[in-house]
Amino acid sequence: MNEFELIRAYFSTLASKGAGEGVELGIGDDCAILTPPADSQLVVSTDTLIAGVHFPENTSAFDIGFKSLAVNLSDLAAMGATPLWFTLCITLPDRNTQWIEAFCNGMAQLVQQTGIQLVGGDTTKGSLSISIHVTGAVPVGGALTRHGACVDDDVYVSGRIGHGAAGLKMALSGVEASEQCLLDALYRFNRPQPRLVLGQALRSIATSCIDISDGLFADLEHVLCASDVGARLELDVVPLSDAVMTGDLFADKGEREKKLMACNAGDDYELCFTAPFTERAKVVSVGEEHGVVLTRIGKVEPGNHILDASGGVLVSLGYQHF
Ligand code: ADP
Ligand code: MG
Repeated sequence: MNEFELIRAYFSTLASKGAGEGVELGIGDDCAILTPPADSQLVVSTDTLIAGVHFPENTSAFDIGFKSLAVNLSDLAAMGATPLWFTLCITLPDRNTQWIEAFCNGMAQLVQQTGIQLVGGDTTKGSLSISIHVTGAVPVGGALTRHGACVDDDVYVSGRIGHGAAGLKMALSGVEASEQCLLDALYRFNRPQPRLVLGQALRSIATSCIDISDGLFADLEHVLCASDVGARLELDVVPLSDAVMTGDLFADKGEREKKLMACNAGDDYELCFTAPFTERAKVVSVGEEHGVVLTRIGKVEPGNHILDASGGVLVSLGYQHF
């Protein structure tokens, strides 16, 4: 099977059949021709995933396909965007068609779920690496950003924090998960669900938003630095994964150590956002409407630290990690 046959047989199945919405010309020409929805702005983002860096080498092809698209969709979710199109640049070590098929099946699951369409890409040979470029749409001026947090805003997080930490530890150690909470965490680590509907619902409510890819503290730090403010968090109300708090996986750690570890670990793909305290009722109803737990974990304050409830420094903002 040559490169073009691979593209036709596998990758093209991720494009919509016939002319998809806004796609005047998709895979097959030198460029795609795309028409943006009326009265919208386009938001674009790219993420590269490298085997052994962004996912453990033993990850299944299906999960690699799912996760590579999921992490890109999560960036669109953080902007409050509706997914439109993506391109896929993939470097493959060989033509293992079984692997490619499973990879495409993983991606297809999210394509069906979200309606995003594959419109082009590039296929090369080398060590496994996947680079995806996503495009989404927001109403003009309606995107959520990192720079809008204001003093006295509430700080929220969606879902629970720590699945990523637990899932990574299990994936790397290869430990058979014995408890349901560990199985759940591993599943969510491999197949994170981008919070697209939530992001869109928050567009008219939140003042800033980010998706948690590097860890709650690190990502909140980005928001606070961009907004030139600090925050005070109630560490005890941060909703944590059972896989971290009650599972056997971190039995060697104390309560506070586990909480801090979960808040410093990545791969959760939840949303962290700020909203004026006058919007509390709306935040609650968005959570109820979309069946996602939204927890108020603290407040935005003047300053350049993330503090805990007693004023201890959790993070000094602007700290250089390298
Ligand atoms: P060119 O040489 O003009 O860059 P390519 O041979 O790289 O074109 O690709 C041929 C067509 O197939 C293009 O439309 C390109 O967008 C598409 N394509 C290549 N690889 C992929 C892929 N992995 N996924 C989707 N489309 C792809
Ligand atoms: Mg090319």
